[in-house]
Amino acid sequence: RASRTFQSLQHPPVLPPPSAAVSVAAFTLSLRRNSPFPDSSTAIIDSVTGRSLSYGELFHRAETLAANLAAVLKLSRGDTALVLSPNLPQVPILCFALLSAGVVVSPANPLSTRLELTRLVHLSKPTIVFAVSSVVKITRELHVRTILLDSPEFDSLTTRDQSNETRPHGGSELGGPTQVTQSDLAAILYSSGTTGMVKGVMLTHRNLTALSAGYDAVRVAKPRPSVFLYAMPFFHVYGFTFILKAMVHSDTVVVMERFSLRAMLGAVERFRVTHLALVPSLLVAVTKNRVTDGYDLSSLEGVLCGSAPLGKETAEAFRVKFPNVVVFQGYGLTESTAGIVRTHMEEANVMGTPGKLVGGMEAKIVDPNTGEAMFPAQQGELWIKGPRIMKGYVGNPEATSATLVDGWLRTGDLCYFDNEGFLYVVDRMKELIKCKGYQVAPAELEELLLSHPEISDAAVIPYPDEEAGQVPMAFVVRQHQSSLPEAEIIHFVAKQLASYKKIRRVVFVDSIPKNDTGKILRKDLSKLALSRL
Ligand code: AMP
Repeated sequence: RASRTFQSLQHPPVLPPPSAAVSVAAFTLSLRRNSPFPDSSTAIIDSVTGRSLSYGELFHRAETLAANLAAVLKLSRGDTALVLSPNLPQVPILCFALLSAGVVVSPANPLSTRLELTRLVHLSKPTIVFAVSSVVKITRELHVRTILLDSPEFDSLTTRDQSNETRPHGGSELGGPTQVTQSDLAAILYSSGTTGMVKGVMLTHRNLTALSAGYDAVRVAKPRPSVFLYAMPFFHVYGFTFILKAMVHSDTVVVMERFSLRAMLGAVERFRVTHLALVPSLLVAVTKNRVTDGYDLSSLEGVLCGSAPLGKETAEAFRVKFPNVVVFQGYGLTESTAGIVRTHMEEANVMGTPGKLVGGMEAKIVDPNTGEAMFPAQQGELWIKGPRIMKGYVGNPEATSATLVDGWLRTGDLCYFDNEGFLYVVDRMKELIKCKGYQVAPAELEELLLSHPEISDAAVIPYPDEEAGQVPMAFVVRQHQSSLPEAEIIHFVAKQLASYKKIRRVVFVDSIPKNDTGKILRKDLSKLALSRL
């Protein structure tokens, strides 16, 4: 009889966990040392200026900054640093320095509004913010000390060691002795989880170390480093963890501060990019848009796609257009330290599934009604367990215990495994809306709508959109005699939240369907939406 728990037999964990006293920065650096590529190989290329940074320079800058974090900025182990930046070359340097010093890294969207940042600051309680100039006004209003990333001060912190400590020449101390332990908190990322408002996902050095070890396990021998272009932000778990991946695999990363399809295609041509890391909405754009004809994309070898469902038809159409480019998919959550299911090399181009479990992780499919684990081909909620599962939500024991059950993470995704161990994601049971790979929490939009004096009740659900995957759609009950128009409601939300959370459609209703305990019946609304539009 088939088993009711799933794990990877092909990809068992390769590395045993390191000793307790090692930071993920030191561990990842030790993996890079196994690489056949020297420290002089290129780590980062700035797509705008074309300027590059070698791995040697990256380590040196991160090491210098790590020393200055304590000596100049007086930061110590356990402090938290909020990082508000687009994808700049400074971000990987900063992340390695913070991780090696034991300062918790908390990356978030630099386009966040005052309302959104107030919430994040309340959750992670940062001691310091590293930000680009555009957000400084807000962070200063929030009374958090802010260091500008795009300033001579930051540059000097990464180039001039002001700690007066003598360091041995030639060797990087990022990998040297440290006070940091594996059980320490390494990062706080933001996710709304299965329900409610945004929460701070606590990832430990152990979580991230297991991720680096996983990247090491899938290292492939190659004659020269791959050149990656990440189309996703460093503040999302997908982009954040790829900083570690690049280091383990000695990839060259082309960093794009401002993203556009044309800029991406231009960068592929200019820097001979071999791999793109995309979200499905971008894969759709690359597949359907004739603009690609104008660029030499012949250097491309592979595309990694994750963070939201990728339609089988889209993947197939992409393969027809780019027959020499292999499509790899992945599935994961912020709470599982990014992808825990992926298409491995030997399964490349398998369509309709994000692949199989990675080594070291276990999964089961649970019947949402009975709580029983199910067999292959049966659908239920995906639960996962292993060293990559988050510690919990910061300051939120209720949400933590609702999500982590005996070490299992409830994903809120309706899935099944086939007999070969491929995962199929059927539907999302949780409230979360994913727009262009970004998380939108209905609860946040609902709270804002309810704050409008002419709105008496509201509910927000995802609506399918070819370009974005899903977009937020609102059902609104207006106050008696109000004739508040749709455009005004859309504007009311748009001016207070980041642009990807914009409500695209409003349907006016007399009441919001709810169950006996007052919970919104979202599935009923989805049906109503499909019938009304
Ligand atoms: P995030 O924490 O922002 O990465 O969001 C995690 C959620 O994104 C998952 O629980 C899924 O609902 C969705 N997701 C991520 N990857 C995939 C995928 N390959 N296919 C379908 N849904 C995905």
